[in-house]
Amino acid sequence: MDAFFEQSISDLKGVGAYYVKKLAKLGIKTVWDLLWHFPNRYEDFSNFVSIRDIREPGVYSTLGIVEKIKTRRAWHKRMFITEGVLYDKTGAIDVIWFGQPYLARSIPQGCAVVVSGKVVARDNKILFQSPAYEVIERHGRTVSAEELKTEDLKHTAGLIPVYPETRGLTSRGIRFLIKPLLGKIPKTYDSIPKAVLRSVKLMPFDQAMREIHFPQSVELAAEAKRRFAFEELFVLQTTLLQYRKQNQTLHAPEIKQDIEFIKRILASLPFELTKTQKQAAWDIIKDISNPYPMNRLLNGDVGSGKTIVAALGIAATVHAGYQAVVLAPTEILARQHFEKLSKIFEPFAIETALLVSHEARITSEGLHGAITKQALKTMLRQDKSLCVIGTHAVIQKDVLFSNLALVIVDEQHRFGVNQRAALLHNSNHTHTPELSEQDVRQSEKILHKELHDTLENHSGSLGRGMTPHFLSMSATPIPRTLALALWGDLDISFIRELPQGRKKIISKVLFDYQREELYAFIKKQVSDGRQAFVICPRIEKPDEGLSEPQYLALDTKAVLEEYEKLSKIVFPDLRVGLLHGKLKSELKEDVMKKFSQGELDVLVSTSVVEVGVDIPNAAVMVIEGADRFGLAQLHQFRGRVGRGAYQSYCFLLSSLDAGGIQKRLQGFAKAFDGFKLAEQDLQIRGPGEFFGVKQSGIPDLAMHSLRDIELVMCAHTYAEAILKKDATLESYPMLQERIKEFKTEIHLE
Ligand code: ADP
Ligand code: MG
Repeated sequence: MDAFFEQSISDLKGVGAYYVKKLAKLGIKTVWDLLWHFPNRYEDFSNFVSIRDIREPGVYSTLGIVEKIKTRRAWHKRMFITEGVLYDKTGAIDVIWFGQPYLARSIPQGCAVVVSGKVVARDNKILFQSPAYEVIERHGRTVSAEELKTEDLKHTAGLIPVYPETRGLTSRGIRFLIKPLLGKIPKTYDSIPKAVLRSVKLMPFDQAMREIHFPQSVELAAEAKRRFAFEELFVLQTTLLQYRKQNQTLHAPEIKQDIEFIKRILASLPFELTKTQKQAAWDIIKDISNPYPMNRLLNGDVGSGKTIVAALGIAATVHAGYQAVVLAPTEILARQHFEKLSKIFEPFAIETALLVSHEARITSEGLHGAITKQALKTMLRQDKSLCVIGTHAVIQKDVLFSNLALVIVDEQHRFGVNQRAALLHNSNHTHTPELSEQDVRQSEKILHKELHDTLENHSGSLGRGMTPHFLSMSATPIPRTLALALWGDLDISFIRELPQGRKKIISKVLFDYQREELYAFIKKQVSDGRQAFVICPRIEKPDEGLSEPQYLALDTKAVLEEYEKLSKIVFPDLRVGLLHGKLKSELKEDVMKKFSQGELDVLVSTSVVEVGVDIPNAAVMVIEGADRFGLAQLHQFRGRVGRGAYQSYCFLLSSLDAGGIQKRLQGFAKAFDGFKLAEQDLQIRGPGEFFGVKQSGIPDLAMHSLRDIELVMCAHTYAEAILKKDATLESYPMLQERIKEFKTEIHLE
């Protein structure tokens, strides 16, 4: 990168140790960082007038000479008040400042200043109240407005940037540092190729930097912002597309298509696949016949039938003589998959095994039921073609696959959470941190690499340097823009419709006064043999002041209180269970197991319950503080019920009615399409909120722009075009650098 950008801020004039420390707080170490510290908004001080023309309240800028300035103490309020008069050739106006006692010294009598800010009416006259100011001349010489060069001003006149600040470093200080840099930006620098700039009609880098910090107009500021949004999306897209290309240079076993065999399995099912299920299955079968690894995401709402689609891919793989693995985030889920899959596979001589931490099972001709883990591991090492379903126990070092050709990760949203937490924090965290999408992608990458290494370490019949095909399944419907923007390196199959004949979950928004009724309803359901979930509201995490463990403690306190209330007062006769993120994962599994086996009637839980376990007997979902959750997440909770034959219910409780909350919840109660809800969520709450976590590694601006479908598509198209022209980006060194920087930022490299 150009040396100009790499300069440390400590090399800048006027930046001493104090500012270095403050700037570091804002994540600013170099000139580059400083330039990318964009304003949140602008103060509009462009109404520059002579004093005579200030006749009524409003926002004005003017140039005048300071007179009669003095500070006094409004002692009853222990507040300093500075008052003065400002005059020019046309008139005079009073000025007042609060709490800035040093002003009388920094802009003494006779000083020429520009002030910008609010003019208010008080005691029959109008005056400037706490305006921003900027010293022009100290010697009392009258400078006329015509003589004044407003482009030299930093804090007054025109559109003035207001930055994210930190204690001890205000926007005023930041402007002071940034303004002088803007004229020195090398004109030749731009990571967006010239041709792209022209066709997308984007401002060049140096101009955009000037306009985003000190815009000449609101329109130009918006244009500059669009340019940087595009830049971030473009870098992101190019990075992802490069990954995709790299993936295609790897080698994977070619699994030949046996359509007749697949047809026979389909004929054995009690239902016909939906249109998008068929499409997804075909995508997978086609992909695994390629000589390079499949890297596909299967995205479909809860209950849309992802398992059978994956099963067809597994069947094809094992039928061709290879091994396939299904990884589930919890033991319960692994067991559920094992049950389902072995039933589908049994008539077709496809052997299925389960491998969890304390147990191994196998279903095959001749063999049925428990085997030792050792025996299973031996089979895997000896080219036995079968499908192994398990938890992380499957990718331990001592489990060697000689012939692994397909890896499927289910509910990857929750997968690898603990390992990743341990990896990142290098400690034995027992709680489950909320994960951002990027975290998940990263844990997948780590997982993928682990698998790859496992394979590399063993030269079985698959041979060295072979990578298995990879499929991840997610039940969180992902809007298309986000999918394209964040998973551009993956191919995606969407299952859009649910199989016909599903019972709708009756969804209702309830008010506090309906609680008694609700509890009576739950008692009735339980006496009919059903079970209920009660989800506790998420405690809003304050922006600062609380550390992660403190926050978790608060969240836990809320769920504990609810649990106490429900188990002791409301349902003393029912079996009430408790689930939250601070429980050890074995304990969590244990509670879920009890609930799924019907040993608990009511499960009180924080949002950790989101995993895709099937509990056909659970028919009631109560969500407390429903307004605290996004639509997509509410939909996930709702998907925990209605998985059996019983009519199911989802009740949303919220005591708030501000900002259209009731309307939003009522809308949710009537909507059942997870993809549509996710799309709405994205529009309402934005991508950062959509994922529940703001810090995702994706630059803020890009995150924000993910709502702009056209811009995302545009960035995607041009990234593709550039890579097509120059796969290694040799002729685009500046773009290359941005990509490298981006990869380090999200720790992918
Ligand atoms: P998910 O996508 O949530 O993993 P599953 O694969 O568990 O969903 O499928 C949910 C249920 O729907 C299963 O019982 C499955 O047998 C059934 N199912 C899947 N596809 C169809 C279909 N096309 N028609 C009817 N039922 C189906
Ligand atoms: Mg599933």
